[in-house]
Amino acid sequence: MTATGPALEFSTTLSSSPVTPERRAEILAAPGFGTSFTDHMITAAWTPEAGWHDAGLRPYGPLSLDPATAVLHYAQSVFEGLKAYRHDDGSIWAFRPEANAARFQRSAARMALPELPVEAFVDSIDLLVGTDSEWVPTGGEASLYLRPFMFASEVFLGVRPAKHVTYSLIASPAGAYFASGVKPISIWLSSEYTRAAPGGTGAAKCAGNYAASLIAQQEAIANGCDQVCFLDALERKWVEELGGMNLYFVSADGSITTPQLTGTILEGITRDAILTLAGDLDYKVEERPVSIDEWRDGVASGEITEVFACGTAAVITPLGRLAWTGGELVMGEETGPVTREIRAALLDIQYGRAQDRRGWMH
Ligand code: PMP
Repeated sequence: MTATGPALEFSTTLSSSPVTPERRAEILAAPGFGTSFTDHMITAAWTPEAGWHDAGLRPYGPLSLDPATAVLHYAQSVFEGLKAYRHDDGSIWAFRPEANAARFQRSAARMALPELPVEAFVDSIDLLVGTDSEWVPTGGEASLYLRPFMFASEVFLGVRPAKHVTYSLIASPAGAYFASGVKPISIWLSSEYTRAAPGGTGAAKCAGNYAASLIAQQEAIANGCDQVCFLDALERKWVEELGGMNLYFVSADGSITTPQLTGTILEGITRDAILTLAGDLDYKVEERPVSIDEWRDGVASGEITEVFACGTAAVITPLGRLAWTGGELVMGEETGPVTREIRAALLDIQYGRAQDRRGWMH
């Protein structure tokens, strides 16, 4: 269970029936999200005795699971999400994969899963993206979405950490999140449901967090909103995050604030990058508790001028409206200038149009 440890050797078995270039071109012309996958995948196994072993690249295909496989019953499972971008010169770059590797380790530790060495995580990405490089889209804000995941693959119904664990990595071409230009989204404030309690799993990217958030997301849709926003579980007062994105508030004085990490919020890698980038752009950045009253009153008084959400999938998304049982608050139908500036700065680094001063691109 060591965090570093020796590098893993990966075997390679290439697909004998890859998708035809014609069909691949069709998929890449309109990739959507999460429905098409590249020709190969990575798998590796772990046991307490052997550690990580049997690592390899193989043709993409179904996993065969015994009905008593532990993950199907107790959800001992974690995952990651990051992207590979094609630059204008044709080269392919991942954004801060070491940061995702480190978060994958923290998530695994919280779920009593073994930690995959950072080097093995990054090597698996290099091998899969290198093999399936033709699947990385060009142009616009398209990318190859990478999904590393790990789950309890032991066939056993007892409730304890599994003694057989599987790591896997799959890749899926992704189109621009906003196909017809960036547009502010609407947010439903959940008063009935919370996402994470102190001592719980909020800071881990574990499967169960997402299962538990679906009913609140359903409620958001039923109320005409795009996404759900969660408050803290204790006081129902502090703004935490959306179902899959962190939040930032822009003030009239040019400062930028994001809710501080409390152990119940996912430590977003985009959130972290913005803390640095906003500083570079001469904004004052703050991490501190933000109450729902501060949000509502701040927008009403004009003290808060823009609110945006951030995450790997949509990069930076402006918020246009906040609704709750019995009320709503309109923040604007246009993307604000600060949101636009930070969004462009981040995309310019990811797509190789700006200098990568911090070695974020791999
Ligand atoms: N919060 C949650 C709950 C998420 O699922 C995500 C997406 N991973 C984020 C925030 C944003 O994290 P990142 O910037 O690393 O994608």
